[in-house]
Amino acid sequence: MPFRPLDELDDLEEIELPQPLPLRRICSTKACRGTARPGGRHCLACHARAVQRYRDRRAQQLAARRRDADALRDDRTRAADSGRAKLAMALRRGTMQRGVCQICGTTDVLGIIEDPARWREVVWVCREHREAELERRREDAAQRTANAKQAAWYDERARVLAAIELLPLDERARLEALAERGPAGMRLSPGAPLYVMNLVRAFKAWCPSA
Ligand SMILES: [Zn+2]
Ligand SMILES: [Zn+2]
Repeated sequence: MPFRPLDELDDLEEIELPQPLPLRRICSTKACRGTARPGGRHCLACHARAVQRYRDRRAQQLAARRRDADALRDDRTRAADSGRAKLAMALRRGTMQRGVCQICGTTDVLGIIEDPARWREVVWVCREHREAELERRREDAAQRTANAKQAAWYDERARVLAAIELLPLDERARLEALAERGPAGMRLSPGAPLYVMNLVRAFKAWCPSA
């Protein structure tokens, strides 16, 4: 083919170039040739299947946990009943005596059994102070639950921050930009506790199955 005269080439726009091939990453599922989702390792279909499998597994786990909890509650109720019965029997036989209210010293008392397996370690309280004692126990239990939640949050935070460390810089920068957004347009600094919470929240919103 003869060359075109060079002076005809003043408008390069007229020359059509092939479109660059889009960078295509292949789905990591064995034998799948699908295109990986942006930021993901699997194609949309494989990802959807993985999420569904995760949900199914999770549902089974939750159902099993519920069954265990029911069984546990039944066990607890039985144990508590048995502890109370043993105490009543011991009082009738006179092998154990009622104590006095541990708060006011009154002799008109009810027993609180903390652990049915150690039903002899009764805490004696009058009717008036029974509520106070039960309330104190509820507060103790609530405190323990709060501590456990706190510990779980620290675990999750460490896990997510480690995952973020491994991200490509641009994805990381995008999450960090989200984390900087404070209330009322305030810009949070990376040391702020709310920044870290936002960062974890952004990561989980972006990657819920992680
Ligand atoms: Zn796939
Ligand atoms: Zn009392």
